[in-house]
Amino acid sequence: MLTNKDLMKEVTDYAERVSSHEMQVAMKVHTHVRRYLGDFLFREGFIEIPPVILSPITDPLNHPTLDPTFTCYGHNYQLTKSMIFHKQLAVLGYDKIFSFSPNLRFEPLERVKSGRHLFEFTQLDLEVRNASRDDVMALMERMYAGLMAYCVETLKDDLASIGRTLTVPAAPFRRVGFLDAKEQYGESFENDLSRDSTDPLWIVDIPLLDREFYDREDPERPNILLDMDLLYPEGYGEASSGGEREWEYAQIMKRIEKKEQDPLDFCVLVDLAQEGKIVPSAGFGIGIERLVRYICGFDRIEMAALFPKVPGKLCI
Ligand code: ATP
Ligand code: ASP
Ligand code: MG
Repeated sequence: MLTNKDLMKEVTDYAERVSSHEMQVAMKVHTHVRRYLGDFLFREGFIEIPPVILSPITDPLNHPTLDPTFTCYGHNYQLTKSMIFHKQLAVLGYDKIFSFSPNLRFEPLERVKSGRHLFEFTQLDLEVRNASRDDVMALMERMYAGLMAYCVETLKDDLASIGRTLTVPAAPFRRVGFLDAKEQYGESFENDLSRDSTDPLWIVDIPLLDREFYDREDPERPNILLDMDLLYPEGYGEASSGGEREWEYAQIMKRIEKKEQDPLDFCVLVDLAQEGKIVPSAGFGIGIERLVRYICGFDRIEMAALFPKVPGKLCI
């Protein structure tokens, strides 16, 4: 049970965290990262949309989370796990959109061991109307390499003060097939590939049931998705996920059924698709705390967040 004493202990810890040298650097990096990414996307012609915190529809994800719902004005709302469906709706009005989107995912407790999971984090989430997977992969490569070059130039002394040396990767990044990687490394292939690599790399050709229903099935290769994950090098694991989206009604319904989910949970998307109003698009989301963690070379993601939400812990 929460007592004032427990809370005070936490608050005391926070006071130490906030003034530590690592946190000073982390928040400076965080400030530069958000500014760089926002400016980069502005130059690329993107519109920034405000984040959505509560909605009747949100990302079903590809793994279970503990999902509280809120009843307000007689309607059920969920906390945003990702803005995927709002992105698909927003591109009906704008060609290129992004949001710095707070996401709440009450992750299974064992995920705390990964060092890269919080239960509240921020995603830079973007979507481009009529884009292909290759288009958004090239966009990510420009953005990622540009950000690393910027950090090496602007934040060199700050990073050196915490013992971090960054390198700037050259595009295009290596692409590795999901099934090939699994065959070579086994179930832990993402962590192993990330650990063995000195540059970021893509995982592609992901089987249909291994990702969410909204990522598009390749019409040329049934059961393989037109989506991708980006892995950080040096063992930092997954940086980003994204892909082309399903937009045709019959295909959306087929995919929801294959995942044994309920179309009613995705009502706005399904209804608009039935009216033929959803358009082709592609996009991705990249977690900001994971990005700051990687740039700073921290052991754990909580070192990259001022008020980190660590699964299982009492966090203010
Ligand atoms: P992982 O496989 O590492 O658990 P995920 O595939 O469940 O991640 P996505 O649903 O693809 O995550 O979310 C998009 C991006 O949001 C991730 O690539 C990551 O950068 C970030 N992200 C997802 N979950 C978390 C989390 N619990 N804490 C911090 N960042 C996260
Ligand atoms: N936002 C999505 C997610 O959280 C990523 C994407 O754009 O596909 O999974
Ligand atoms: Mg992912």
